[in-house]
Amino acid sequence: MTTSRFDLRGKVAVVTGGNGGIGLGMARGLADAGADIAVVGRNEAKSKAAVEELKQRGVKAIAVATDVTDKAAIEAMVARVVKELGRIDILVNNAGMSIRKPPHELELDEWSKVIDTNLTSAFLCSKAAYPALKASGSGKVINIGSMMSIFGASFAPAYAASKGGIVQFTRACANAWAPDNIQVNAILPGWIDTDLTRGARQQVAGLYERVLARTPAARWGAIDDFAGIAVFLASPASDFVTGTAIPVDGGFSVMA
Ligand code: NDP
Repeated sequence: MTTSRFDLRGKVAVVTGGNGGIGLGMARGLADAGADIAVVGRNEAKSKAAVEELKQRGVKAIAVATDVTDKAAIEAMVARVVKELGRIDILVNNAGMSIRKPPHELELDEWSKVIDTNLTSAFLCSKAAYPALKASGSGKVINIGSMMSIFGASFAPAYAASKGGIVQFTRACANAWAPDNIQVNAILPGWIDTDLTRGARQQVAGLYERVLARTPAARWGAIDDFAGIAVFLASPASDFVTGTAIPVDGGFSVMA
């Protein structure tokens, strides 16, 4: 049951990487609050399945096949969302990936792929969506960072750099777009059970147990743990909240 402060009916949200993992968890929350959703990702079968699931929640949903490293494709995606759903009020920059290697083994093309997918994509999507967000009169941008923007990660130098960049990019946009009544915030997930971390768990023996021991909540995060924070940051309830980076990590960042 939503109260008016969390009501997203009549709003349109673009969720990059919305066809699975944390992006789908956030898309479910936004749809439950009444927002129509554009699911952005490369895998059309996964996006189609996500759209069918979201429609069951009584909202409009479309899949827009887009590689978020492709500037022209992003611009076409934004134009299509505005044409088909009428507006963009909420942009969730969530698409991301990692390459597990220490800095001295990482190749330049691998570094660039991670930075392009995780950080430059947020710049390109935000810039392309800005006119629509401004026209909305109450735009919201949610950028997905990581605990790795705080902690050093020997096995993820480009990933950590991209996520540190996300936090500072969030602050810059929050400042720049406050006069347009666009709030820009970041979420910093801890360890969440998704395809991304399932890959890491296959490579690193004991990772599952180490995360449990290191997390005060004593569990891995689930994708639906992101529904509530997404609704808060997308709704009028957060109109005086901007430029923040909010951990959603079961206490991982405060563990002594
Ligand atoms: P998943 O691997 O489950 O999902 C990643 C999503 O990103 C997919 O929907 C994928 O869709 C999309 N994506 C990846 N590359 C591109 C691209 N080039 N163009 C368009 N879409 C792309 O990962 P998570 O759900 O775990 O991660 C989501 C976000 O959360 C990421 O930014 C990640 O860094 C962050 N995060 C995750 C944590 C975790 O523990 N899981 C912890 C901290 C942060 P498709 O393949 O169809 O393109």
